[in-house]
Amino acid sequence: MHEYSIVASLIDVCEKEAKKHRAKAIKRLSVRIGRLSGIEIHFLEQCFETFKEDTICRDAILEIEVCDVVLVCKACGTQSVVSENRFVCPKCQSAEVKMIGGQELHVKSIEIIEEEHERV
Ligand SMILES: [Zn+2]
Repeated sequence: MHEYSIVASLIDVCEKEAKKHRAKAIKRLSVRIGRLSGIEIHFLEQCFETFKEDTICRDAILEIEVCDVVLVCKACGTQSVVSENRFVCPKCQSAEVKMIGGQELHVKSIEIIEEEHERV
């Protein structure tokens, strides 16, 4: 499944980040996912919960921000956010639009728990 490999690579990113900062755990992982990325959010969350058990993300919270589709009109240059699957420029009704957002998958931030904090 697509989502499994995404979770695997997200955890991989966290492991590297943790190593870099000598962190003992990941506290929070925030990602941005485009509405048209083809990723099933609920399934991704479910996969994360299953996968994280034996990893640095054991106690991590996965935060998902869903991004809307952003279009740029090739005819008039208007940039617009569309909430429906209607790929038409809202200003001039041209269908000559380019999608510049809505398919992405970005790691927004990773919050780590550092080693020192354990002694407090
Ligand atoms: Zn237009």
